[in-house]
Amino acid sequence: MHTGSCLCGAVSFNVSTELQPPDACHCTTCRKWSGHFFVSTDIVTGALDLSGADKVTWYQSSQKVRRGFCSVCGSTLFFDPLFHDWTAIAMGAFDAPTGTALGRHIFVSEKADYYKRRLKMGFHKIKPKLQRNWLREILRHAVLLQIFSVYLV
Ligand SMILES: [Zn+2]
Ligand SMILES: [Zn+2]
Repeated sequence: MHTGSCLCGAVSFNVSTELQPPDACHCTTCRKWSGHFFVSTDIVTGALDLSGADKVTWYQSSQKVRRGFCSVCGSTLFFDPLFHDWTAIAMGAFDAPTGTALGRHIFVSEKADYYKRRLKMGFHKIKPKLQRNWLREILRHAVLLQIFSVYLV
């Protein structure tokens, strides 16, 4: 069971399933709507229990999709394709822990110019950092050994 809400709490929800790895959408529409790229996870309609539905304002951004936000605080919440049985929920609305990790980036060709094209994800991010730390440790020890060897001779 996962819970979440908008910033002011007028809209809240429960999700009865585990969360799928979220998508980060870089399309122009998602960026305009969310303020940056939009990260969300798809929830089967039957698994979503929504409270404060009357506080959700829907904006139809295309013929096939409507987007929902809190009419009180403006939080970006739902991406709802009209002819599918799922709704994408903004990852930022979920309470921790979400128990998932970013799965993929989509519509990267439409991304803005103020962040890098190569976006690292999940555990890939940890590996190079560890390697860098290892290298730093080895170098530090090598320097210390040299200093002590001067005194030992
Ligand atoms: Zn709100
Ligand atoms: Zn998008």
